Amino acid sequence: MARWFAEAEAVVVLTGAGISTESGIPDFRGPQGVWTKNPAAQFMFTYQNYLADPEVRKQAWQARLASPVWTAEPNAGHRALADYERTGRLRAVLTQNIDGLHQAAGSSPELVVELHGTAREVVCLDCGDQNPMPGTLPRIEAGEEDPACLECGGILKSATISFGQELLPEVIEAAVAATRGADLFVAIGTSLGVYPAAGLCDYAIAHGTRLVVLNAEPTPYDEDASAVLRQPIGEVLPRLVQAASPV
Ligand code: NAD
Ligand code: ZN
Repeated sequence: MARWFAEAEAVVVLTGAGISTESGIPDFRGPQGVWTKNPAAQFMFTYQNYLADPEVRKQAWQARLASPVWTAEPNAGHRALADYERTGRLRAVLTQNIDGLHQAAGSSPELVVELHGTAREVVCLDCGDQNPMPGTLPRIEAGEEDPACLECGGILKSATISFGQELLPEVIEAAVAATRGADLFVAIGTSLGVYPAAGLCDYAIAHGTRLVVLNAEPTPYDEDASAVLRQPIGEVLPRLVQAASPV
């Protein structure tokens, strides 16, 4: 596998929550996952419920205030991808994560495609006004339960894609274009159960691109993969990148 990493000319990675668990951010479906522990959460925090129910928004704001994203540091897995970029072989980091840790680890913003948006920004669902999230969180700390847009009074939400919300077309296009040009596609820390993100694996397979899966638990794509590694990402990814980098 290290040889594949060393010889590929255009590598595209698709990362999921599993690359950030070693930074202290729980995933959704792993053994310590948010939904594994509280299955009801995934049905509650849909886009439709968020729009319709002030109580859901109140809970979402409390969760944003308490989010581990604000204190999390990138780990060896994120840093390995930033290092691998220096070989010139990495074409894109397509991430389902909303935590911004790839950029924090040094991955070039131009290479990172945030398929599901970012928790670090807040957007007005009515007028589209977008601002850094830390500007709004003090309003929650000061006692507001459901802060309204300061421009138009509309509903505010993190700039993330919730269930029931469509991905931005330009983001899907960027991900597909990167995948089209890849000769190695590596899925890292994702259960590959969320579409359209997981569908990028189908796209890679259909174009004859070698697929590698790095994930602790089995995924629906393991059978189609050229190789599957179940070791912790923070251990295995730095080793692969080191073996592939000129000294
Ligand atoms: P998931 O929770 O469905 O799957 C994560 C996978 O990573 C699991 O199969 C787990 O076994 C594996 N994993 C966890 N830690 C690992 C480690 N150290 N080494 C190897 N494997 C490990 O996550 P998903 O597929 O990304 O889908 C979840 C959705 O939730 C995404 O859409 C994402 O937007 C969102 N989410 C994001 C974050 C984040 O930004 N960090 C965190 C939770 C959820
Ligand atoms: Zn507004």
